[in-house]
Amino acid sequence: MIIVCPSCHAKNRVPEEKVAQQPTCGQCHNSLIPLQPIELNEQNFSQIVPNSDLPILVDLWAEWCGPCKSMAPHFTAAAKQNPKVIFAKIDTEANPRLNQAFNIRSIPTLVLMKKTEEVARVSGAMSSQQLQQWLDQQLANTSWS
Ligand SMILES: [Zn+2]
Repeated sequence: MIIVCPSCHAKNRVPEEKVAQQPTCGQCHNSLIPLQPIELNEQNFSQIVPNSDLPILVDLWAEWCGPCKSMAPHFTAAAKQNPKVIFAKIDTEANPRLNQAFNIRSIPTLVLMKKTEEVARVSGAMSSQQLQQWLDQQLANTSWS
């Protein structure tokens, strides 16, 4: 499967059985799946999201949003537990066009993406346990191949 390097945006072909073994980028040697949220913005979104064969879970947030901040450590914790999902954050203030493209009405909002297709979304802060349950449900309900 193709995994896009979050550091240099090179497309890396990774055998499915190696995905959970912390693969590194053939070009820049950084981790392909850093097990922590990556930063998506209007510059790198179209390089990473449409080309990634892994599900991408996007957290749309803003600096002024209290519930977003309280959920942030739970989102980070979940990233460590899910090596086969790309966890990404979008600052809605800094990226108004993405905010508009996602048609965000309240934050935090989580959107699960299969390439450019939105698979599921949920709004409101969640604990890591709620987040994991929701994610497991959506992953099971969707065909990823
Ligand atoms: Zn790289």
